[in-house]
Amino acid sequence: MIKTLSVTSECAPFVKTGGLADVAGALPAALGALDVQMRTLLPGYPAVMQALKQPETVLTVPDIFGGEVRVLAETVHGVDLLVVDAPHLYDRPGNIYLDDDGKDWADNPQRFSALCQVAALIAREGVAGWRPDICHGHDWQAGLMPEYLQAEADRPATMMTIHNIAFQGLAQPSLIGKLGLDPYRFTQAGYEYWGKVSALKAGLMSADRITTVSQTYADELTTSEFGMGLEGVIRSRRDDLSGIVNGIDDVAWNPETDTAITPYKTFKGKAVNKSALQAELGLPAAKGPLCVVVSRLTQQKGLDLLLQALPTLLERGGQLAVLGTGDPALEAAFRAEARHDNVAVHIGYDEAMSHRMIAGGDAILVPSRFEPCGLTQLYGLRYGTVPLVALTGGLADTVINASPAALAVGSATGVQFAPVTADALTGALGRMCDLFEDKKVWEKMQRNGMKQPVSWDISAKAYAAIYQDMLAKR
Ligand code: ADP
Repeated sequence: MIKTLSVTSECAPFVKTGGLADVAGALPAALGALDVQMRTLLPGYPAVMQALKQPETVLTVPDIFGGEVRVLAETVHGVDLLVVDAPHLYDRPGNIYLDDDGKDWADNPQRFSALCQVAALIAREGVAGWRPDICHGHDWQAGLMPEYLQAEADRPATMMTIHNIAFQGLAQPSLIGKLGLDPYRFTQAGYEYWGKVSALKAGLMSADRITTVSQTYADELTTSEFGMGLEGVIRSRRDDLSGIVNGIDDVAWNPETDTAITPYKTFKGKAVNKSALQAELGLPAAKGPLCVVVSRLTQQKGLDLLLQALPTLLERGGQLAVLGTGDPALEAAFRAEARHDNVAVHIGYDEAMSHRMIAGGDAILVPSRFEPCGLTQLYGLRYGTVPLVALTGGLADTVINASPAALAVGSATGVQFAPVTADALTGALGRMCDLFEDKKVWEKMQRNGMKQPVSWDISAKAYAAIYQDMLAKR
């Protein structure tokens, strides 16, 4: 059995701001079936502490950044949690990364350094007799974990997974000493990034292996368009980088058993969910497709392009339902569009509603400028909700475009567009409306999507294979 410590700042169902949480929450069970024991090290935010019922204290550290830190162990919802209980760092209301003004918490470098310091302690000494063979960190918040361990001879193998390279965890160099970093590695070949400390770069330079969440995103990361300044780093580590597409949690996201909707086995069961969603949102019946969006409202997601392309969808008799939260300007712009009878906008984060949207929609729109993997198009496939997506990252890898060739052989599962512009999106919405009018073709796409394997089975095997490979090479 391979023992792995997953080091993450989010984990569903305890705390989630995006897809990272879904991945961190689903991987342990998927790997468990492959003889990998994964324990998950997670900061003790209020929501996480509340989820613990009878935790065991397995480690106490007298002082990290001015307060005592305890590690609490308990298995909750099937996830074997190791929670970093550090009230001075994590016990605060609101967003886990941002203060009330929407700015990063000023002490984020310390908050996530603490997570990584605890990870390194567990890597060296273990907890309650358990020492990992592998430490697997996610995104910049875990980036200092391999950095802290890199110089040590007797250490677990380390791996970093990039869920989104846009977030890099920058800190002032004046913090180098405080964060316990080796000042001699503050160089281009180390964790220095344009005069600052980059936690993500630290992880990418020091981890034994790197993965990201789709093959196309792995390729894109080597380019200046997508590498966000780290393309050189990625290129220098190309031989150690793999792309593994995310799966979905097929217990939470199964239309046959989903308690948030009227469950269904085939796409025919969507009709009742669509009517219910229209009623819930105050949308009339319409001749065109009901398109749904479940997303953070940010520049990345390309939803400003959707605002520009919306008239075409409405002219074709389509409808739009948006569930999202994020950038205030985008929130306001979508709210304003709700003046149309065929547009409904719900600003907020609502897990149950996201299930109703995906079950009730005819199509799910993901027009992202970049998308490392993307999950909602996978939910769409599983629920017979045809994805319309930008041709980028994981969206390129998981949807089969309704090209003339794919339609001829009957393999299409959705619609893709490129380049990621309002014009191309407008064209794609038009194509989608054409396809929707041809019921036979549309239903074939729905059936194809529902058959496509989107669970963790395949991807978990790919992770397990990398773990094995790392251990074999030691
Ligand atoms: P990202 O991680 O960039 O936000 P993903 O598509 O990988 O994008 O994951 C987003 C996850 O967050 C999905 O599970 C999606 O359903 C969920 N989500 C996003 N916005 C909302 C919302 N407003 N309400 C409920 N779930 C949401």
